[in-house]
Amino acid sequence: MITARAWAGKRFAVLGLARSGAATVAALLAGGANVVAWDSDAGVRSQFLPGTGRGTGAAGGGGLPQAASLADSPLHQPAAGPPPRAGEELALADPLTLDLTGFDAVVASPGVPLNRHPITAHAAAARVPVIGDIELFAQARAELPATRVVGITGTNGKSTTTALIHHILATAGVPTLMGGNIGLPILAQDALPHGGVYVLELSSYQIDLTQTLDCDVAVLLNITPDHLDRYDGFAGYAASKARLFAMQALGHAAIIGIADEASSAIARQIARGGRAEAVTRIAPGVCMDQSRWPALQGPHNAQNALAAIAACEALGVSQAAIDAGLASFGGLPHRMQIVGERGGVRFVNDSKATNPTSTAPALQAFDRIHWICGGQAKTDDLDACRPGFANVKRAYTIGDAAVLFERLLTPDMPVEQSGTLDAAVAAAWANAAPGDTILLSPACASFDQYRDFTARGDAFVALVEALA
Ligand code: ADP
Repeated sequence: MITARAWAGKRFAVLGLARSGAATVAALLAGGANVVAWDSDAGVRSQFLPGTGRGTGAAGGGGLPQAASLADSPLHQPAAGPPPRAGEELALADPLTLDLTGFDAVVASPGVPLNRHPITAHAAAARVPVIGDIELFAQARAELPATRVVGITGTNGKSTTTALIHHILATAGVPTLMGGNIGLPILAQDALPHGGVYVLELSSYQIDLTQTLDCDVAVLLNITPDHLDRYDGFAGYAASKARLFAMQALGHAAIIGIADEASSAIARQIARGGRAEAVTRIAPGVCMDQSRWPALQGPHNAQNALAAIAACEALGVSQAAIDAGLASFGGLPHRMQIVGERGGVRFVNDSKATNPTSTAPALQAFDRIHWICGGQAKTDDLDACRPGFANVKRAYTIGDAAVLFERLLTPDMPVEQSGTLDAAVAAAWANAAPGDTILLSPACASFDQYRDFTARGDAFVALVEALA
């Protein structure tokens, strides 16, 4: 577990108790902090501390008996570290019902929409900062062995690039771990030894909750419209990404994909701010031989690979280790993942494509596609996917967007409104001929029908496996 003695005796309110929230509470308690914890979901609360899901909303929340009730808590899974020490304090209470005066910080989960959640104004009124687990990690670094940090953001490609950089560093024999938006919560992991490199995938929500993370290498892949319900328009979303660089020390490296105007503008702004030397631009359309990198196909992965190469070069990794890492990288599930072949028909799970820009590469990577798309739409058009339309034999629309997508696609291709993933897979399988590809690449969020994109991808894989 990563913790800090600097938190001893300080008071924190932790809002959101799913994975990173639970790890945050454990890390704060281990550092000797006072913690008030809350999740609006009673089920999550009772999972967090069994038997406490109901009736704990009153101010103060009631201190919990220490060892007895905590002993069974999920906090004590090995990944979250040892049980709290005697003298630590934990209470369950909704911070909105508390006078936050005297608290050192509210630690919010990235799932809390700061732009419309009342905690923002409530904390501001008490002059208490709202931070996240990445900020706590940044604070804890002062007490950890000397290591470096790579932070990766962007609308699409974050996970792939994060996993790739991590893989190349591991290939080079550098102690490294992944955290942030990927893998285990960062505070639940064991601190790296001297010389190690933390590779952090950072969503814009996580950047919004971070004030002092000085990345030795910061990577921005791209910025396209997404998550606009959480920001004051596209400019607000782009400004959130720019803050990753604003937190860096002068000489630290900035690697920026310049395929879109918003990212280019950030690169120019950093260069003008006296850091021209530190900026590496990743231009689109660079011709590269990707044939030795089986898990890094398509132009979008060229961008991811170039960014990872630049990041590893900035960290001083040898060219040989970079080459070996690119070649042996296995890719990530749910991203253009070939999950099977039946009767000459290929099945591809690209459930992670949750917006039209991230679906676009998949439509260009295959031909004769039966395209399953839809879910909770993030845009009211599919224009970003248009360059791949010629590769689609037939589309099958599902979820809340089924009607909208059928209307949008009908002028360009045959479309069936399937409604559910089961119906879409059955219809696509009935229509497919040998050599065709059945592709789940929804261009939508999954929350209308699934817990998350992983559950949606797993459901697709199960349907494929069930086919005769
Ligand atoms: P993130 O973590 O940012 O969501 P992933 O690496 O998980 O990104 O990829 C998500 C989806 O975005 C995949 O479906 C993939 O096809 C697409 N994608 C990956 N990298 C890029 C990129 N550099 N530009 C555009 N789309 C991309």
